[in-house]
Amino acid sequence: MNAEIITIGDELLLGQTIDTNSAWLGQNLAKWGIHVQRKTAVSDKADAIVEALETSLNAASLVIITGGLGPTRDDITKHTLAQFFNCGYRTDASVMAHLEKLFAKRGRTLLEVNKLQAELPEACETLHNAVGTAPGMWFQHNKGIVVSLPGVPNEVYYLMEHEVLPRLQKAFSLQTYEHRTLLCLETPESILSKHLSHFEDELPEGYSLAYLPQFNSIRLRLSQKQQNQAEDKGIEFWFERLQHALGILCFGVGDISAAERVAQFLLDGSWEVSGAESCTGGFAINQLLQVPGMSACVQGSMVAYGNPVKRRELGVLENTLKEHGAVSLESGKEMALGALKKFGSDFAFSTTGIAGPGGGTDEKPVGTVCLTLVSTQEPKWTAVEGLSHENGLWIYQKKKQIPGNRQQFMQRASNSLFALFQPWF
Ligand code: ATP
Repeated sequence: MNAEIITIGDELLLGQTIDTNSAWLGQNLAKWGIHVQRKTAVSDKADAIVEALETSLNAASLVIITGGLGPTRDDITKHTLAQFFNCGYRTDASVMAHLEKLFAKRGRTLLEVNKLQAELPEACETLHNAVGTAPGMWFQHNKGIVVSLPGVPNEVYYLMEHEVLPRLQKAFSLQTYEHRTLLCLETPESILSKHLSHFEDELPEGYSLAYLPQFNSIRLRLSQKQQNQAEDKGIEFWFERLQHALGILCFGVGDISAAERVAQFLLDGSWEVSGAESCTGGFAINQLLQVPGMSACVQGSMVAYGNPVKRRELGVLENTLKEHGAVSLESGKEMALGALKKFGSDFAFSTTGIAGPGGGTDEKPVGTVCLTLVSTQEPKWTAVEGLSHENGLWIYQKKKQIPGNRQQFMQRASNSLFALFQPWF
């Protein structure tokens, strides 16, 4: 089944709002075997909406529209659709009851303009929106189905899950897809694909492998159509085979980020962690703290940007800074050891580098970063380049060259830092 998405709103065209609705819709419709073949963003103008709708209905049997269902003057989707379907309006009593209850609960007066949200085109079936005020609409056109949803992302997710997908499943007995995802860090797509060529050759019909790169990480998504042959070994079998084929190149299993994988490791082992960040300015610890429950693991972290702070707070030696500079493996090591001592954790990391755009030299160009992880714990693998054992502590270091602007630099540097945890997994 083919679908098209139309997102409505001047803010999308002006770049003030990033269209996350169609990304989410694309991802989730794929799970149901619905192929999104085009998405179009249009302004809050009736002509533009109608033109996009006609084009989409000529090309696909499902059109999903988001945005423009609010009570304000610029929200014209409902009226445009009523005209398109050549119908009048009806008042939906259950939407009115929902609005009255919602406004009473929030202690707000239900204004006439709000009551208008219960007036819907006669040609549509109501999609009840339990998490917002604007109901969605389901229209049957002779060329296909038209679904209109509000713009607010969490309302789109709610309505799709509770109202739209059950209807689509009933109408089309949709074929579902099973997916399994894993994460690889710092290995280029071309090398991964070479490594997996035998696995991909073996993969039977009905399965597919997608490479989804983002910064210096790549998620691999194995998909299976839910129509198994009797001899099909099943997605678990092929997913295990994929992990086996990847070996050490697999950083984490599941649809997770590098920070989530590290957090999972720290939580599972009840390990305490701390940090000393220079060039990443707290980005790495912030990524870890996005994961619930990390208060059990994160002891503390310091943004040690200036040399006096590196010296005073972390004990980096004057001599080390003078001889090797702040951006060096030597200074990075002393920063991480300083954090380990200061915060008394099991693991401590440090970052020091040149995020740019200025500050680079021939010897240390923009993008240079030195990453260090120190630990009181012995890793599972010790024969790793850059990993050493000194004075009872394990020290793993990497110096890298990272491309991109400051923001991309921080994301990539943090991912590379998280990759240092792998020998302990
Ligand atoms: P409401 O009734 O709550 O006003 P609506 O249907 O009128 O909803 P809009 O006014 O178009 O929706 O958008 C509501 C909010 O959702 C805005 O903050 C808008 O920026 C955001 N939004 C709209 N479309 C998208 C989209 N495609 N992706 C992400 N956010 C979006």
